[in-house]
Amino acid sequence: MRARHALLLAALMIGLAVVAVSWAQSPPPVREITRIAGDVYRFRNANHYSIFAVTPAGVIATDPINADAARWLRAEITRQFNQPVRYLVYSHDHADHIGGGEVFADTAVVVAHDQAKAVIIGERRPTAVPQVTFSDRMTIELGGTVMELAYVGRNHSNNSIVMRFPRERLLFAVDFIPVNSYAFRSFPDAYMPDWIDSLRVVEAMDFDVLAPGHGPLGTKANVVMFREYLQDLRAEVTRHAREGKSVDEIKQLVTLPKYAAWGPKDWFPLNIEGMYRLVQANRLGN
Ligand SMILES: [Zn+2]
Repeated sequence: MRARHALLLAALMIGLAVVAVSWAQSPPPVREITRIAGDVYRFRNANHYSIFAVTPAGVIATDPINADAARWLRAEITRQFNQPVRYLVYSHDHADHIGGGEVFADTAVVVAHDQAKAVIIGERRPTAVPQVTFSDRMTIELGGTVMELAYVGRNHSNNSIVMRFPRERLLFAVDFIPVNSYAFRSFPDAYMPDWIDSLRVVEAMDFDVLAPGHGPLGTKANVVMFREYLQDLRAEVTRHAREGKSVDEIKQLVTLPKYAAWGPKDWFPLNIEGMYRLVQANRLGN
């Protein structure tokens, strides 16, 4: 029995060693910091992005992404700018953007929308709970830099906010204004037609550069085009649903060639599926 135990133990240790080696060999996510405008920078962690502003009185940071990313960002901000993070602002409650907020909690005031705080607590998001919340608008001023926070209505969540830097003419908006991209999969946690209304609110704001939470930087033209996409998609799906077509038939019928250059290609049929679900939820058929 003892020999058998020793054999089992050896097998277990070899197994653990294999796991450790394969873990160590998985490539680290691409992380980088690039300057956008003035003293506002973009932080990349693989496919996720946030922004931060450096001022003589400290740093205003936004989505920490996750705990590992946040630790890297904190170390880089200290190394490159030698300033503490004084504010940490969450774009919305989704864990893939705001995980790891606790990394900054010793120096920063954590800010989010009222409803984001409720969801962060309710869904036990792995991050610091916001200390300061707002319902409509809020302004943060630090070391001469102004960041205006605004709630623009429900869209990709019920608590997405935009962050505008008036001096830098820059707007940070996450997940509800993709730049030359379809919406994420089948519209999880989405509100329609509120989303379209919220894009009109953003279109009325004063900015030149749009910094999204994924993909390349954009401009206000990207906001307009994405709003038109949602309207076109909704109109087409509604028309076919009213004709009694099934979701599978509608996926064959809706093409929207105006947006054919967008990706990822496999998200378009999922967008149709999600829009069908949202349309049917607020429609009384015959
Ligand atoms: Zn999201």
